Amino acid sequence: MSLAVTNIGELVTNDPHLGIVHDAAVVVDGDRIVWVGPSSRTPAADSRLDADGAAVLPGFVDSHAHLIFAGDRAAEFGARMAGAAYTGGGIRTTVAATRAASDDELRRNARRLVGEALRQGTTTIEIKSGYGLTVTEEARSLRLAAEIVEDTTYLGAHVVPAEYAGRADDYVDLVRGEMLDAAAPYATWADVFCERGAFDGDQARAILTAAAARGLGLRLHANQLGPGPGVRLAVELGAASADHCTHLDDADVDALASSDTVATLLPGAEFSTRSPYPDARRLLDAGATVALATDCNPGSSYTSSMPFCIALAVREMRMTPAEAVFAATAGGAAALRRTDLGIVRAGARADLIVLDAPSHLHLAYRPGVPLIRTILHDGVPQ
Ligand SMILES: [Zn+2]
Repeated sequence: MSLAVTNIGELVTNDPHLGIVHDAAVVVDGDRIVWVGPSSRTPAADSRLDADGAAVLPGFVDSHAHLIFAGDRAAEFGARMAGAAYTGGGIRTTVAATRAASDDELRRNARRLVGEALRQGTTTIEIKSGYGLTVTEEARSLRLAAEIVEDTTYLGAHVVPAEYAGRADDYVDLVRGEMLDAAAPYATWADVFCERGAFDGDQARAILTAAAARGLGLRLHANQLGPGPGVRLAVELGAASADHCTHLDDADVDALASSDTVATLLPGAEFSTRSPYPDARRLLDAGATVALATDCNPGSSYTSSMPFCIALAVREMRMTPAEAVFAATAGGAAALRRTDLGIVRAGARADLIVLDAPSHLHLAYRPGVPLIRTILHDGVPQ
């Protein structure tokens, strides 16, 4: 069945850059876009969706989310907003709740969040493990994630679990050995939380090298809470993405700018931990590819809203609205090494959002407002 979306006031194609076309139409057939052009020349289609002059964008691509967990950490958030520091230690609270939850509870919670994200325009989302931290629990998390999404990331190296306190290297051996063997069949990517208090550069390298040998793509939590080796390690290992990038020196910025490792910025984390934002302007001016993602997780960024991240990026990280929209769509696709997402052209996935607004500018201009009127996901109106 084909569907023509006509009368598009402003079409963001991302082909190339923001690629804005006015008075446009898009025809989809099945789950693919088959035609893009002027609305007045729309070819015949089985059905028609009149955008009535609104803006149409590719669906958002959220390349960084932690959705397999149980419980929440609202009390920790409340304490933080009353002055407590964020250290990442609360991850262990979620680990305990996740281990105690049934498959069905974890599945229902993840589907709830994927649905919540979809209603806000996210048509692709990545899901990480990392709240199981045993061989069976990490494999379970990834098995459940793989039921729901295409991009699943093995994050056994999220934090050293309490039962390995003082024996971090033993835990690293488990993560790169038996746990990787159990997780790999359900994972497309591997990731490490490379940070003081979590895993150092040597440990991250050992884990990522083992994962790459198993055919997994690489991504890395890097330079979130302080300076460190993460970003340069990500670039050296050819990772698809270095995520957070909050504390960078000139060599980190140069490394990102001269590689195809995407700098994925997660401003929901800085918002929710009341921390300084990454300097997106510096990365963009250096020539790095920047993605925006939610980091949706119950501890440090419990938002599934890409429009919220766009608004933060514009207001707090000195990105232009055009740069932020590009980063939330084509940037996310680049961070997942996908050429058929985040772009509107023939052959691309038929994931489109129709705004309740005439321009992409409104996503940052009207923060907190539900501006997604209609969503086409795999060609199907939602
Ligand atoms: Zn994360």
